[in-house]
Amino acid sequence: MTNTARTLKYLRDKGWEVGMVERYPDRDENGRFKKGHKTSEEIKRKISEKLMGRKLSKERRRKISEGNKGRISYWRDRPIPKEVREKMSQSRMGHPTSKATRKKISKALMGKHLSQEAKNKLRKVNLGKHHSEKTRKKIGRIVRERNKKMKEKFGYITSLQTRRKMSKARKGPKSSNWKGGITSKNKEIRQGIEFRLWREAVFARDNWICQRCNKKGEYLHPHHIKNFADYPELRFAIDNGITLCKKCHLKFHKIYGYNHNTKKQLKEFLT
Ligand SMILES: [Zn+2]
Repeated sequence: MTNTARTLKYLRDKGWEVGMVERYPDRDENGRFKKGHKTSEEIKRKISEKLMGRKLSKERRRKISEGNKGRISYWRDRPIPKEVREKMSQSRMGHPTSKATRKKISKALMGKHLSQEAKNKLRKVNLGKHHSEKTRKKIGRIVRERNKKMKEKFGYITSLQTRRKMSKARKGPKSSNWKGGITSKNKEIRQGIEFRLWREAVFARDNWICQRCNKKGEYLHPHHIKNFADYPELRFAIDNGITLCKKCHLKFHKIYGYNHNTKKQLKEFLT
């Protein structure tokens, strides 16, 4: 039995229903399902479809696309509120955009490509121009804020450029995981789902309570007891996860760093 199959069984046996972790519309402030909650059949079907690596039927894809059309045009030319943007970015996590989609988006955003002549003109106009002091400060603030968020979330700061380079270097034949380009996309999707299920099971087992400060209703992180990098076989094992609130989780990594974390460290941290 795979870890994820075990996770699914665990959740079912416990009477927990499988839902998307970052969407809590049916839960109370303690993360418990509200009375009368039903996991939508839609979500369940989506998960199982994705797990099986099955493609959506043409009809369903058309419907989804129809349904999305209005939504996209609503936000067009409107500033997107911060709250909505955060939600959007959260829901995008673990869902890499395909190359084809990215191309489409880029095309839609850029409209027509500029001719070489136009580009030269633009360059001339912009030559010698600098951002104003105010703009530079604003950019700096945005970058700092983004880095802070990255650090909170992932524990490290890497510039976008560096991350792109790293990702490029890791992808393809250079990667030790390279299997000829067949599995990568499905694997990404499956692992994203496996991670969500694992996180959900860990939270459920711990009753949505931080196992260090015993607080309820905090923003929760699932912590890998034996670290993610060194124990790939335990990445989705429920026993290798523990629920910590964001504060305690950050504290743990502040004390013990982010590399080669061990069970011994956690024991020490919890006592
Ligand atoms: Zn805590």
